[in-house]
Amino acid sequence: MTFNSLSSLYSRKWCNPLYSWQTSNWQKLTSSRNNNRLAHGLLFYGPAGIGKKDFATEFAQWLICEQPSADNACGKCKSCQLIQGGTHPDFLHITPEEEGKAIKVDQIRELIEKMSLKKHGQGHRVIIISPADALNTNASNSLLKTLEEPPANTVLILVSDKPSKLMATIRSRTQMIRFELPQTEQSVQWLNQQNIDKAELALKLCSGAPLAAIDMVDEEGLLIRDKLFKNWQDLAIGREDALESAAMWIKDGFKVKANLPLNWVSSWILDMIRFLQGGHIDTMVNVDYAQSLQNLARQVDLKSVYGLLDRLNDTIRLTDTPANQQMLVEGFLLHWSGLKRS
Ligand SMILES: [Zn+2]
Repeated sequence: MTFNSLSSLYSRKWCNPLYSWQTSNWQKLTSSRNNNRLAHGLLFYGPAGIGKKDFATEFAQWLICEQPSADNACGKCKSCQLIQGGTHPDFLHITPEEEGKAIKVDQIRELIEKMSLKKHGQGHRVIIISPADALNTNASNSLLKTLEEPPANTVLILVSDKPSKLMATIRSRTQMIRFELPQTEQSVQWLNQQNIDKAELALKLCSGAPLAAIDMVDEEGLLIRDKLFKNWQDLAIGREDALESAAMWIKDGFKVKANLPLNWVSSWILDMIRFLQGGHIDTMVNVDYAQSLQNLARQVDLKSVYGLLDRLNDTIRLTDTPANQQMLVEGFLLHWSGLKRS
């Protein structure tokens, strides 16, 4: 699953930033540039699914625009048009060649070579590296010198959800700009404006990240969740077989996004723990399953639910490695179906 670039989906407005929750970062960065204090290397970091990359693209356009206002690209000049067509030679985007894989040293070498050539337009040259945590060690080392002393009028923007995975020497050469999760109310309002069904539920399931919530609804994530949660409940009452179910979890669930189904289950287990500890229904994430969740929680003791959570966390950790996914998910579903119930 990738977070959609909304700029292409919604009618373009020449008033930045695209998302209302990014206003303070926009003001901060535009004011830095207007005062000639913009760093050559920027690291945009914060939770996934809140529009950091879209922000970086918009900011790049403003830097590259030939007739920018104090805080907006003009949207009309040749540079703006080339950027919108995705063909501006001064605007480079480095991503892994294969989704989920590393950014390799050859890609960075090629970038450095391009940067040694003369710029085409009159504005800045901007390079977006995303996700920057995908840079492997060699690629990172190769980038260090460029980050320290890029060619004139060149800005490198690194975008990451996991900045701690970046080499410390990379981080220390950038100005780190944190992007915060928007307030729930603001996100719900925005999702409603985009005509998103079940906005509040989708937002809760995506830990408050509005673009992730849109993707979840767009990609039928809620339907797949319903299907898997039905199976999850059937496993608890012995109506389904864990070994057969695992294949479905991997086929239907993991195609949405690796480990997403296990994260849903994690939120289910945490809801059970909240309930067993006397928490109110409002504190639950899976409010649409409150009834069934409470019934199942009543049949088990808190200690065994914590044991289940440990098992799940081990499973999630291992599915990130080359371990056999099928066996891992089977083992976990078996643990759940075999839990001692009263
Ligand atoms: Zn322009």
